[in-house]
Amino acid sequence: MLYCTKCQTICEDSTRACPNCRRSRTLRPVREEDEVFFMKVHEGEASELSAIFDSLAIRYRTEPVKAGFSTSVYDPEFLPTDRNLYVEYRDLERANEAAAQELQEPAPPEEDDMPKRKRMVIQTVSIVAFLALVMAVVLATDQLAGFLKSLFAAFIG
Ligand SMILES: [Zn+2]
Repeated sequence: MLYCTKCQTICEDSTRACPNCRRSRTLRPVREEDEVFFMKVHEGEASELSAIFDSLAIRYRTEPVKAGFSTSVYDPEFLPTDRNLYVEYRDLERANEAAAQELQEPAPPEEDDMPKRKRMVIQTVSIVAFLALVMAVVLATDQLAGFLKSLFAAFIG
């Protein structure tokens, strides 16, 4: 594998230019102790992964993502608390395994499992119930008005 000393990524031996930064002179054979860019992580993920890497004795380093570009301010994917995570090449494979396990998507909440049809039925029923309530109020008001009218008429009459 080759190592790009500029952006700290690795690529295949046959690569002529770094697939990430497109430089070619920065490529050299990777060494065991090279710090390889692992991933950009959120603050919480960074502390989770740090704890796991510590327990597995994986050599890593994190640093704040540099906010040097004005565009990143408007990038919704970017948070000022994001961190770049680097792992030494000799520990990269183990880091990949550990991170894959840790960062698996949590199971979606049960609400989202509700079939669309069921959700539509519930929505329809609640709309009908609301309309029925409105009608009931209108009818009750009508009856009350009629009752008051007849009461009034009885008084006068
Ligand atoms: Zn590069």
